[in-house]
Amino acid sequence: MILELILATALLGGDPEPVDWRTAATETIETLKRLVRFKTVNPPGSEFPLVSWVKEELAKDGIEAEAIQPAEGRGNLIARIRGDGSKRPFLIVAHVDVVGIEEGKWTVDPFEAVEKDGFIWGRGAVDDKGMAACAIEVLRLLARNKVKLKRDVILALTCDEESGGQYGVKWLIENRREQIDAEFGLNEGGKIIQRNGRPLYLGVQNAEKRPHNLRLVARGISGHGSVPRPDNPILALARALNRIGTNPAPVMLNETTRKFFSGMAEVEDEPYGSFLKALSSGADPALAAHAAAAISERDYTFASMMRNSISPTILKGGIRTNVIPSEVEVNLNCRLLPGEKVEDFARWLTEVIQEPAVEVVYEIPEEPEAPSSPIDSDLFRAIEAVAEEMAPGAPVVPYMSTGGTDSARLRRAGIPTYGLVPMPLTLDDLSRMHGNDERLQTDSVRFGIEFLYHLVLKVAG
Ligand SMILES: [Zn+2]
Repeated sequence: MILELILATALLGGDPEPVDWRTAATETIETLKRLVRFKTVNPPGSEFPLVSWVKEELAKDGIEAEAIQPAEGRGNLIARIRGDGSKRPFLIVAHVDVVGIEEGKWTVDPFEAVEKDGFIWGRGAVDDKGMAACAIEVLRLLARNKVKLKRDVILALTCDEESGGQYGVKWLIENRREQIDAEFGLNEGGKIIQRNGRPLYLGVQNAEKRPHNLRLVARGISGHGSVPRPDNPILALARALNRIGTNPAPVMLNETTRKFFSGMAEVEDEPYGSFLKALSSGADPALAAHAAAAISERDYTFASMMRNSISPTILKGGIRTNVIPSEVEVNLNCRLLPGEKVEDFARWLTEVIQEPAVEVVYEIPEEPEAPSSPIDSDLFRAIEAVAEEMAPGAPVVPYMSTGGTDSARLRRAGIPTYGLVPMPLTLDDLSRMHGNDERLQTDSVRFGIEFLYHLVLKVAG
């Protein structure tokens, strides 16, 4: 306990009252359990009872909050701790809807929030109710300690993230833009990876790949199955897919991924560390290409981070067992790097597949691409400073997620947003997200609340 107080005082520069982290962690865990027990599986979400409960909880500490119902049963919450207004607000976002569960595959009740073996078990414990619970606790601590802030700290608990965010972040941007306006925001999407009981690195998501669904449509002449035709479109589609599978898109690093891979080189064992170094430096192009191939074989996420990616996901075609179809198609779920245009990618794809009978069909999205968040902002630097105190030796690296998050919407709306769930997670913890037996270490909750509180003080104090 003495050590904790010293740490808190050192971090806070002896300013506001030191926090009793043990009590704060216990309270955060209790909050998390309550959040998990609200069954907010999306669809239908039904988040309104949850956000209404949070509003009441915050009111106990005199914190102003509004529970909003953007559609029947759906719920968002906006809460605010006021600063002196000398700097623009800091926004913290956490979604409170969760994905469904596979019946009969859990070893505990997924909505009971069981605490055992050093974990809180339950759907949403990691994604993203843990972050919500930490943020709620931070607001309470700020209010109770009457911390003087230069910026308002805004908390937005949002619905509908798992089904596209139409009623959540999108709705808030369209209907409550001024209430969530901020100089920058913190959201899920980045992580503190834990190995051997310690934070290994902090990946701060500042960019993301953009999803596009392209289709390959193969056309031919229909006929009787008893008379094979060389122009059977199924054969043409199969050849096209085979070429896609054997010709990965070229490696293209950007500022974020270059810094990410170079940071990873510091923490990974040999020879992998050297591969990452060769890839990120790019000094020797032949070596970098060899390294990219070796890394791609071992880590499919890294493979996707270094190039535009393609996953065939749905095959459609054929009407009867004895009829050669005239048209078959496959959906390609593609994730393009920031700055890449889908029309250029489609042109590249057409050259790769070399099949005149196969057309690459795509749509140009209506909304412009979201910009990446700059890595020289006050928030990014504050994350680095807190990490130096709380996770010494663990590098802070910018991170580009292969999947999309609500942050893209916020960035497009002019709020540079960074992804970082402040609780350290092992690869095992991560593998359970959206899977069975999702669970969050209670020690990570303790770390998370402390990290987030210090981050707020650094950036807004
Ligand atoms: Zn999530």
